[in-house]
Amino acid sequence: MLLKLLQVGEPMLRNRSRSLTQKEILSTPIQKLIGSMHETLRDAPGVGLAAPQIGLPIQLAIIEDRKQYWTELSVADITARERTEAPFHVIINPTITFSSEQSVEFFEGCLSLSGFTALVPRSREVVVECLNERAEPQTIRAVGWYARILQHEIDHLNGTIYVDHMRARSFMSLDNYKRYWKSEPLEEIRKRFASEL
Ligand code: ZN
Repeated sequence: MLLKLLQVGEPMLRNRSRSLTQKEILSTPIQKLIGSMHETLRDAPGVGLAAPQIGLPIQLAIIEDRKQYWTELSVADITARERTEAPFHVIINPTITFSSEQSVEFFEGCLSLSGFTALVPRSREVVVECLNERAEPQTIRAVGWYARILQHEIDHLNGTIYVDHMRARSFMSLDNYKRYWKSEPLEEIRKRFASEL
């Protein structure tokens, strides 16, 4: 079942979500929800979806990054982003236990801010402790784009949206990103938007 994606301004997107018990995770409604969220993520398409984005204040998000989403990226873009495939998986009650001081900055978007993008600095590397969909403890060590996705989704579970971290002056419509900025060297764009007026 396709779920409705809430857009920024919905109070739910600013709530801190509650954690799930083992019993809840293994329950039929949650297992069905995971299936519907996966279907919704593929349909969008996107690389991550958090429960608050479909109106549920629970600490659950899904992630899936597939090569077929990278067709508009050059090999250099993929390399710079350290983008690697992330097979479908579920993160429940996640906490970030390590964030690298090294920060990397790229344009990022969100299904709840449809049609927009901005430069967002993120830690290049994170370690996340969470449960999977079978309520088993997991330790995830992630670098590059996958680390970015994890930070973005875990932010959603705490009521945070990328606009809270972005270079405010780089906020733009996706259409204008493609029109004016996509083929510019990122280093130049970063310099241009880094300074405050
Ligand atoms: Zn998002």
